[in-house]
Amino acid sequence: MLQALRSFLSRRRRPGIDMLVPRRAPPGPPKIDVSRVGHGFGVGPKRVVALKDVDISVHHGEFVCLLGPSGCGKSTLLYALAGHLEPTGGSISIDGVQVRGPGPDRLLLFQDPALFPWLTVRQNLIFALRARGLSRSAAEARARAYVSLVGLDAFLDALPHQLSGGMRMRVQLARALAMDPAVLLMDEPFAALDAHTRSQMHLLLQRIWIRDRKTVVFVTHDVREALTLGDRVVVMAARPGRVLHDLEVRLPRPRDPDDEALVLMSRRIRAELAGADAAGAERRREEEATHARTSAPGGAGAGPPAGLGAPG
Ligand code: ADP
Ligand code: MG
Repeated sequence: MLQALRSFLSRRRRPGIDMLVPRRAPPGPPKIDVSRVGHGFGVGPKRVVALKDVDISVHHGEFVCLLGPSGCGKSTLLYALAGHLEPTGGSISIDGVQVRGPGPDRLLLFQDPALFPWLTVRQNLIFALRARGLSRSAAEARARAYVSLVGLDAFLDALPHQLSGGMRMRVQLARALAMDPAVLLMDEPFAALDAHTRSQMHLLLQRIWIRDRKTVVFVTHDVREALTLGDRVVVMAARPGRVLHDLEVRLPRPRDPDDEALVLMSRRIRAELAGADAAGAERRREEEATHARTSAPGGAGAGPPAGLGAPG
């Protein structure tokens, strides 16, 4: 009896089970609407289906992580959102307006901070802000405020090469936030940083996000990074690039990637990804076998000798 009660309680207390749930869209129109988006690179038998029938909606102020293995189409989708790539199928709209190219409402951040090496931190920010039409004094004030937000007040007049990789990333983040885009798009921005700097960036980004509630789409192949940062984790699989799950992460912030519940969740997602990977490999083997049969001399009917190859 006592044993049964204990087991019931431990099941009830098992963390990570009801904190990762299928996403339910909030009421109202989404900020970003990705509808049946597909994209193929190349033609003929070499054609790669980078995305197939992808549906994702993102509401204002959501932090969405696109998570999946290399090659599942995360960057392709992000570039399509940024307007740098026109998908071969489906449509993407932002605030109800179809995306037809890049715009000041969206800003894309990469691993490489892409700062002007001959300009100081302050000048790098001012340059970007002036290009957006701010007056000299407004740009100066804004540059100071955002450099301070990322904790680099002491480095306002430093040149990029005088900064560490993590600091340059902070400058890039400060510049992006200072430009105040409606949507921030991030493509594995912290992948090249060492583990310690990366977790500092996670804390910083969460702190800023809690303050500003920007709409963020953040691409990563790292399950724990996705669970640390996202309100939502959209789990993708490759070949063809598609959405497997759209999950809501109900963990309090700021999050610790070593948190027990988070680690449990990450195990569940990893298992899902491994399952999808195995199923994909199986499907490819079958396709290759079919292709070999139909393209062999003798045509469609010429199968492999009995007992060999895939089932017909
Ligand atoms: P991810 O960012 O998830 O690693 P990508 O979006 O970069 O994936 O790529 C998805 C698929 O499309 C991969 O198979 C990749 O090899 C292919 N791909 C990406 N860009 C090109 C391109 N310019 N030409 C041909 N194939 C591409
Ligand atoms: Mg990529």
